[in-house]
Amino acid sequence: MKVFKFGGASVSTLERIQNLPTILEQYKSEKLLIVVSAMGKTTNALEKVVEAFFEGKKEEALQLFENLKHQHSQLAEQLLGKPLDQLIDFYTEIEWLLHDKPVRGFDYYYDQVVCVGELLSTCIVSHYLNHSGVHNQWVDVRDVLRTDNNFRDANIDWTFSKNKVKDTIEPLLQKSSIVLTQGFIGATDENESTTLGREGSDYTAAVFANLLDAECQTIWKDVQGVMNADPKLYSKAQWIQELNYNEMIEMAYYGAQVIHPKTIKPLQNKGIPLYVKSFIHPKEEGTYIHNARIENLPPIIVYKENQALVQLSSRDFSFVGEGLTAKVYNIFESLKFKPNLTQNAAISMLCVVDNQSDKVENFALRTSDFFDVQVQKDLTLLTIRHYNDTILQELCGTRSVLLKQQTPETIQVLLDKV
Ligand code: ASP
Ligand code: MG
Repeated sequence: MKVFKFGGASVSTLERIQNLPTILEQYKSEKLLIVVSAMGKTTNALEKVVEAFFEGKKEEALQLFENLKHQHSQLAEQLLGKPLDQLIDFYTEIEWLLHDKPVRGFDYYYDQVVCVGELLSTCIVSHYLNHSGVHNQWVDVRDVLRTDNNFRDANIDWTFSKNKVKDTIEPLLQKSSIVLTQGFIGATDENESTTLGREGSDYTAAVFANLLDAECQTIWKDVQGVMNADPKLYSKAQWIQELNYNEMIEMAYYGAQVIHPKTIKPLQNKGIPLYVKSFIHPKEEGTYIHNARIENLPPIIVYKENQALVQLSSRDFSFVGEGLTAKVYNIFESLKFKPNLTQNAAISMLCVVDNQSDKVENFALRTSDFFDVQVQKDLTLLTIRHYNDTILQELCGTRSVLLKQQTPETIQVLLDKV
């Protein structure tokens, strides 16, 4: 059997949903588990709903949710030729919550609200496929994938989930050749909804591929496959035919927005190959990611925009030894904040971080107990794997380099504003 993941862009419009049966036609004789994300930018819109709710702006939250209801209901009706009543149950659950007052933490409410994006999209897609003769069985993934209650970044309970997959998904796949479910979400042992981190549907698909011992996983995207750079940022970006797990995990780690960084491990652990293919040109080959030695890769370019450089300098010329370094890392850990690059010198330490303003401010405040702290914002962290001087010069241009770190394989430079 194979696992497919269709991301938000692949179900963002009427036409794109109508294109799904054509893609699936090619796999008629296969058993498929299909993971689908929320449509288009629904998750962002739901984030706005939950923010308004948490700030006590109930009417605004309800109004924002009303817009989403309208979009989903209208789309379903266009696809099916009649209203889809099942959507109402999902709407009602959220509206009940929005009528209450928040008494728990933000992350809890975030997960209870945001998960509906995936429930709505899969409900619509499943009905549409059945309506088009592509028979499939819809599953609420919250009955299968158990997580802890680390809301917004929940961790899978592998043992429980494995048994559930055995007891529920495997028999369903005997009966029906397609099982269709949600990415990105799960539930705790108390049946609270959880989410796995933004863009987490790739990871859900990999979890299923692992648990079902799938023969491969395919992520369907609006690009030809994995490129060596974001074509929007680098006009000479080229398609890569083949990669290994290691290269893919490094790319995702440095910030390439191709797949969720957690996706590779469950696949690598079982040697399951990953394909990244275009839902616009489904017959084209895409990128093949597996366990292999791959030579002659082009330079792989990753830009991380909106970076901040935090410079920590010791006040009295004392060395930044292991004690102070450990303190800095403890602060990172307690804020759930990860540096993208660090560099130590005798009496200072440099940290490059995502400029999430609340976290940067907290970090600066807490490190100021031990250091003089300076923060510089609006910077770009450029990473090039398999670099050479020509590409480095081309990409840095006339921008000044504030920091540079390199290994034989990878170079990272922090660039000042243009
Ligand atoms: N819908 C979620 C998001 O936009 C998960 C996903 O698309 O993978 O982050
Ligand atoms: Mg997505």
